Amino acid sequence: MARLATGATATLVGLALAHPAGAAELVIEQVTVVSPQLAAAQPKQNVLVRDGRIVSVSSKPVSAAAGAVRLDGRGKFLTPGLMDSHVHVGDVPGFPGGADADPAMGAIRDAYVRQQPRSYLYYGVTQVVNLLSTPDAAAAFEAQPQHPDFYRCAATFVLDGYPSVFIEDKAIRYRAMPDFIYEPASAAEHPLPAGMDAAQHTPEAVIGKLAESGVRCIKIFIENGFGPASDWPVMSKETLQRVRAETRKRGLLLLAHANAIDMQRLAVEAQVDVIAHGLWNWNEYSTDQGVPPAIATHLREIHAKKIGFQSTLRVIAGLADLFREDTLKDPAYAKVVPPSLLAWYATPAGQWFKEEVRKGLGGVPDMKAMHTYMVISSYGMRATKYLSDLGHPLLLGSDTPSAPTFGNQPGYDTYREMRMMAQSGVPLPAIFRAGTINNARQFGLDKEYGTVETGKVANLLLLTANPLETMRAWTSIDRVILRGSVIKRESLAAPRE
Ligand SMILES: [Zn+2]
Repeated sequence: MARLATGATATLVGLALAHPAGAAELVIEQVTVVSPQLAAAQPKQNVLVRDGRIVSVSSKPVSAAAGAVRLDGRGKFLTPGLMDSHVHVGDVPGFPGGADADPAMGAIRDAYVRQQPRSYLYYGVTQVVNLLSTPDAAAAFEAQPQHPDFYRCAATFVLDGYPSVFIEDKAIRYRAMPDFIYEPASAAEHPLPAGMDAAQHTPEAVIGKLAESGVRCIKIFIENGFGPASDWPVMSKETLQRVRAETRKRGLLLLAHANAIDMQRLAVEAQVDVIAHGLWNWNEYSTDQGVPPAIATHLREIHAKKIGFQSTLRVIAGLADLFREDTLKDPAYAKVVPPSLLAWYATPAGQWFKEEVRKGLGGVPDMKAMHTYMVISSYGMRATKYLSDLGHPLLLGSDTPSAPTFGNQPGYDTYREMRMMAQSGVPLPAIFRAGTINNARQFGLDKEYGTVETGKVANLLLLTANPLETMRAWTSIDRVILRGSVIKRESLAAPRE
């Protein structure tokens, strides 16, 4: 909880600067409370917030200190702030690696770094879990004056496996990444680089080191390749067992990147806590409609074993959006993307990833590429609906950005993830729980977040529509309340540069 304390201090400093002295109390009057622990929306409630926490929720009038901030809640809905449990704060969407060495590109990156946390808040995301980025990127995110409460995972992977290995221009390349696990079993093909000590790359040593950095979860990658590549090394069953044992011993959640049926089966077998992707690669079980028995059996096992599940539908949709003619003209983009970055996306240089992806698809035209990804998306959507129909408590995780695509944008993608869950057939109350209490419980943060209740952190949203009745509620945010500090939504939009 040391991290939380740090974040809280920073936010309270911001609060003190943003409001005159004595305004540490907030009363939201005559508001309709919508919260996961309530069977129905509760009208005419008065909510008292002091020092960043909810002190009381009651139908009776509350007495607040003189100088308390008062919000008229009549005709409005008060909900917990959203939590996105799968983000990557280090990556500028659409930037090629190393691009920011150029000063002009560096300036664009800086504008993004300033806006990113505000874009999350603009869409009501008041808590994020960062799964893998550099420590510098995490620090830059937390250094911004307004930012969602920030939680971190660390990641480990097998030497020469994903994401150390990647494909560029159809060639296999490797990134230098320090926290790998060495598989002695694959030593013949992937020898330990010279000068490295195998003893520092056992599951126990790597997880021990990562645990000491104050993370609350460990993410592993169960990925043997994309498209034609399907022979990248993955962790052996023995290594997976040791990773599971060590994370349990240290009280860390274990998350798995896996989006193909064979990879997700390994994740289930390894008893991971959370599968950090939807299931859109059905391999030999691919079919135009419905959910075949093999896929259904796997999804039922996820449900029976209470494994957390992030659908991350925006991963594939964010690729489809590369080829959608109106993506950059979407008015929401102007709200969450700095103008300099938005302008760069429209240049030939800004289209590099689109062209790379097109090449990977055999040079097809835009419509065909978009269609390809929409078909892949439909698998993930069917799997999501199947789990939802089982009553599985889904987790809201957008994986922003999941690739260097301008189709993924902070905050807006969290909203679009929810919208795709709705399009998949997930009922609105289940989507609401996915973004609030389910995420809070899964990450051990339900004492702090997830409901509008006494004692919880006052990360709240004042909406002009009821999110249990319409998705429009999430685009009709009136105020974002961050640790008791009231922020007008429009003030969080990207400034004109
Ligand atoms: Zn991710």
